[in-house]
Amino acid sequence: MAKDLREKELIICCRDAYDSYDAYHITAAFFPEMVRLGKIRQKTDPGIDAWVIISFQDASGVADEIFRFHQAATEQQTQSAQKRKQLKYEMGCSLYETLSALTGKRLPWGILTGVRPTKIARRWLEEGMDETSCRDRFEYELKVSAARAALAVEVAKRERELIGTLEHGCHVAEKPMSVYVHIPFCPSRCLYCSFASVPVDKYSSRIDQYLDALEREMASVAPFVSDRPLSCIYVGGGTPTALDSEQLKRLCGMIRSYLPEESCEWTVEAGRPDTITEEKLHILKEAGVDRISINPQTMHDKTLERIGRRHTAAQIREAFMMARAAGFDNINMDLISGLEGEDLSDFTATLKMVGELKPDSVTVHALAVKRASILGQEKDHPLPAEDLMTQMADEARLWAAQQELKPYYLYRQKNMSGNGENIGFAKPGKEGLYNILIMEEVQDILAFGAGAVTKLMSGGNKKEIVRINNVKDVLLYMDQIDDMIKRKEEYLC
Ligand code: SF4
Repeated sequence: MAKDLREKELIICCRDAYDSYDAYHITAAFFPEMVRLGKIRQKTDPGIDAWVIISFQDASGVADEIFRFHQAATEQQTQSAQKRKQLKYEMGCSLYETLSALTGKRLPWGILTGVRPTKIARRWLEEGMDETSCRDRFEYELKVSAARAALAVEVAKRERELIGTLEHGCHVAEKPMSVYVHIPFCPSRCLYCSFASVPVDKYSSRIDQYLDALEREMASVAPFVSDRPLSCIYVGGGTPTALDSEQLKRLCGMIRSYLPEESCEWTVEAGRPDTITEEKLHILKEAGVDRISINPQTMHDKTLERIGRRHTAAQIREAFMMARAAGFDNINMDLISGLEGEDLSDFTATLKMVGELKPDSVTVHALAVKRASILGQEKDHPLPAEDLMTQMADEARLWAAQQELKPYYLYRQKNMSGNGENIGFAKPGKEGLYNILIMEEVQDILAFGAGAVTKLMSGGNKKEIVRINNVKDVLLYMDQIDDMIKRKEEYLC
């Protein structure tokens, strides 16, 4: 970013909030550093003489306009929904080309601002479009790069095959669904973390009480869905294995008794190797857990220390071997590209070291800077260069292909470094089905625990997805458990 722009503010002024979403996110993708420094501001002004105006403004209020779209105010206000959608698309393309010319950049995902590009590809394939046409449409209509267009179509194809294995009953009561359970405790807070998670040491005296609340929620809500088959159970967090052995046994026992599905995929995140013991692995195995995730993020000790993970790469190797010895034949590992202080050779070395362990699946996340994370609060951490993020993403795909791991799910987040994506790669047959279901929104997900979000695709007559959010704060969750049960019951009974 040129020095003179750093001193200015980028103002996006739209007539209404509906239009500002795309304008903001396309602009933000071109100026990630300004987002980080809080130098992009959105304004809504129904009286402006254009649909969208974007300008750089200096400290004295002098504005330098860089973009203006659609002058005819009255025309815009009387458009049909269809026409408005078309105009919005035209605004996105025009803004994209203006910012591209100004910055000299093209974005990997073009004008797409949503988190699920594969959902678009899947819809097109389902409508009968062939793969070449899908790729072309991504490239020419949505300005997506050729590599990302091909990736979106490849992942969408795999998702269709995997989702197609699920049975779909005619009535809501027969439709398969999945369950998410949130355990919000971790040994320490990672620099980039924005999840509902608290330090396990600080909360150790409240964990049993948390499990009491969780059991109460499950015991009250699970009977409403007892006739429905389960596709997946996913226990995430936080770090579920941060519970001690007795607590973990209790957690597995309550899941087994309230959700007695024998044949579904059951994943438990065992993300931090310093929380994994042989005893805990045996508890998980005996309960029927068939997939776990041990997450290095990086295999460099210096970076691990810098990002606050308080474990070493050697502990990752030990935990992985221990899990294999305990009989786990489906182990995922999560990695992050773009961590501070790492260059391409560091990332490549991590891939090589992870490859030596031969995990069954690997998810590569591009670093996302969330406001709720320490990284989002401390503005002095540099963002990785965008071309470095592209090189890392290319390297990850190449490495995965060499390992015979195929891409099977993909999603994007806001404020991702390099405007990239998160991709899950897996050996055929070792995919985490839950990852697809949660992203593609094809099935009801019943969620328990602090911060857990229940999503109902088949909620009554409503076409839109119903979301029921549990409160994020652990203490409030325990306090307000009856309210949260009641809200779920209203939709399920
Ligand atoms: S292990 Fe995961 S949930 Fe826990 S602090 Fe780190 S990123 Fe957050």
